[in-house]
Amino acid sequence: MTAPQPWHPVTQPGLVRRELGAASKPTFSFEFFPPKTAQGEQTLWQAIRRIEPLAPDFVSVTYGAGGSSRDRTVAVTRRIAAETTLRPVAHLTAVGHSVAELRHIIGQYADAGIRDVLVLRGDPPGDPNGPWVPHPDGFTHACELVELVRSLGEFSIGVAAFPEKHPRSADWAQDIRHFVAKCRAGADYAITQMFFHVDDYLRLRDRVTAAGCAVPIIPEIMPATDVRQIRRFARLSGAAFPEDLAHRLEAARDRPDEAYAIGVEHATAMAGRLLAEGAPGLHYITLNRSTAALDIHREVLLALAARVA
Ligand code: FAD
Repeated sequence: MTAPQPWHPVTQPGLVRRELGAASKPTFSFEFFPPKTAQGEQTLWQAIRRIEPLAPDFVSVTYGAGGSSRDRTVAVTRRIAAETTLRPVAHLTAVGHSVAELRHIIGQYADAGIRDVLVLRGDPPGDPNGPWVPHPDGFTHACELVELVRSLGEFSIGVAAFPEKHPRSADWAQDIRHFVAKCRAGADYAITQMFFHVDDYLRLRDRVTAAGCAVPIIPEIMPATDVRQIRRFARLSGAAFPEDLAHRLEAARDRPDEAYAIGVEHATAMAGRLLAEGAPGLHYITLNRSTAALDIHREVLLALAARVA
């Protein structure tokens, strides 16, 4: 099987921006994580096979917190490239890696025909909010890794964006300055951290635009169907979870079907408004279980079709 083409080769500058910027054609993508067990592997591949017929623009595979999943991320991403029709985007963090190791990983992706990398700084191992200690021969900020990947060949590069500001940024001015610098170092697009208020995304986009940066920012959609799980994720990511949604989910705690429907309905409404406001695409978190992401996506497509009709 031939390796899939890169999502948007950098040999055609501007292509991504045009594609992502075209309101009539938002991109749709799904995020997976590399499983630790054989059972987890099976669940992941069931999800991948259910999503594949929808022909999403890309799927991404996360890099374990603290740099913990290097081999598994590389293996899953390579298998997606080799055995499916999907276009994989490999997450890569600088955590715990020397520059030489990072070069080696990027080389492994290139050898497998993977040209799409989501470049991240990552968080410290153990306590993600603890002090950042760079590898003695490594990087301190994502912009340095962007520069490295850009220097190593024809990669398309995504970076992280934060609708509620990165928790370590002192203020918005600093946050936007560093985000724009990261984009100017060579990023083609950004994907956001999970968030639950559309206005936060819109404000971020306005701030980035006002700073003269036109890199498309794809919002990440997290189906909030399990209140305890979402509260944990929201705490880790710093995302503010809406209290009214939390109350509704708490009230339906013993009725999983009802909680599921509430979470899907909220995410679908968010997705619809984001697209109506001109978001360049939607990136769904799947947690390796396709059902909620697919249910939301189906509703989004129906709404889009109704708008066109
Ligand atoms: P940076 O861009 O380096 O920013 C980190 C902080 O440093 C910010 O406060 C920024 O303002 C500041 N900063 C940046 N540049 C400079 C500079 N030059 N001088 C001074 N300060 C600066 N983590 C994982 O471990 N694995 C994953 O797979 C993963 N996937 C993610 C996917 C998405 C879409 C998102 C949004 C996040 C993901 N993360 C992942 C989490 C991410 O690694 C953390 O949020 C991390 O804290 C920030 O990474 P960054 O790439 O934004 O870092």
